[in-house]
Amino acid sequence: MVNFWRHALAFPLILFFCSALIWAVAGVLSATLFFSLALSLRWVFFMRYLTALDHWLADPEACVVPNGTGLWESVFGRLNKMARLQREEREQSSAALRHLEQATSALPEGVVILDQSDRIEWCNPLAEQHFGLDGARDIGQQITYLARQPEFVQYLTVRDFSEPLVLRGARHDGLTLSIKLIAYSASKKLLISRDITSFERIETMRRDFVANVSHELRTPLTVVNGFVETLSDMPKLDNAMARRALHLMGEQTQRMERLVNDLLTLSKLDNALNALKEDTVQAPALLRTLYEEGLSLSAGKHVLRLEMESDCNLLGNIEELRSAFSNLISNAIRYTPQGGEIVLRWKECNGQPVFSVQDSGLGIAPHHIPRLTERFYRVDHSRSRETGGTGLGLAIVKHVTIRHQARLEITSEEGKGSTFSIVFPAKRRLSLPEENAD
Ligand code: ADP
Repeated sequence: MVNFWRHALAFPLILFFCSALIWAVAGVLSATLFFSLALSLRWVFFMRYLTALDHWLADPEACVVPNGTGLWESVFGRLNKMARLQREEREQSSAALRHLEQATSALPEGVVILDQSDRIEWCNPLAEQHFGLDGARDIGQQITYLARQPEFVQYLTVRDFSEPLVLRGARHDGLTLSIKLIAYSASKKLLISRDITSFERIETMRRDFVANVSHELRTPLTVVNGFVETLSDMPKLDNAMARRALHLMGEQTQRMERLVNDLLTLSKLDNALNALKEDTVQAPALLRTLYEEGLSLSAGKHVLRLEMESDCNLLGNIEELRSAFSNLISNAIRYTPQGGEIVLRWKECNGQPVFSVQDSGLGIAPHHIPRLTERFYRVDHSRSRETGGTGLGLAIVKHVTIRHQARLEITSEEGKGSTFSIVFPAKRRLSLPEENAD
């Protein structure tokens, strides 16, 4: 404020003082002339600095901040400082941005930034390769105009990004991408693409190997098993040792056969190219058949009950569902001591069809439960072998469950029993027996 009065009053006071002095010495005309001239000069002086300031404001980058005197010197000095700070901040931001761009360019994954309408805002060189984009030309373009695979378009449309999308033959044959979308603000998304071609190739080789080995083993096993059965049935074979040996050989070949069959089933379920063949599954009828089979497997050793709380049908694959359900039933029978109770239940929970098998058997300690569906994972090895288990039953159940977008729920208490439930999504529920997939 003091500054303001100093600058505001200094010139008028000097001007009035000088004009009064001239008036006293040289008369009123000279004083008026001096007054007008001084004011005009002051006006020109102001206009010069104002024009210089206007010129600089019009294009601060192109010219330097002008120099001035008096109050103008202070104004231009401050502007100069502000401009310098701004320039430094801008340089720092561009350096950080360049750094970030270099880091994302070096990422082993493709990165595309999309706006709320799925238009490309930025992409790194690897994303350009994966989707055939041109970072300079395609900015602002809708990504689905450039990457048009139907699965990819659907993935973006459905907007369920919980699971990554596997895109085969993405840009050219043989390229397999794993694609994940991550929303990082209300309107922006990061599209991350990873080349999983070699991983897929190894996975296919592993799957083919297991399938081929299992297939190759099946024929010799069937032949050996056939001969073992024929020999055991021969009436003249009275040597007890030979009979016992044949009995053991028969048991082991049958076990190997079951193992081979389970491995083949798993390799089919495991193959992403083997799409689920869906149809109407008459669930109540299927359960009744499985209940009958359960009764014969239990051979009167357990109390088996079938509780039908729903009559809804299911959209799914009958063979796969039969395999999963019967694995759960056979487990309940094998891991429940004689006299125990087993309940097969078909019900609905919040519109979701649920198949469950409850037993009063051995139960499972909590730390085993998360690992039960791993291949060959067993809580009790000897019991599994004794009862003819392959260690693959729950792995099969898990795969069938995933292929039907269902979930497997396991509750168990050691010494009291277990309940295995498959909860299907509501969209798989078909209310009338005659209702079909469409
Ligand atoms: P297995 O052929 O050995 O039964 P599974 O994959 O079917 O293989 O089951 C894995 C393991 O889970 C079994 O070895 C067993 O220890 C345990 N298990 C499965 N079902 C039950 C059950 N109903 N009660 C107790 N334990 C079970």
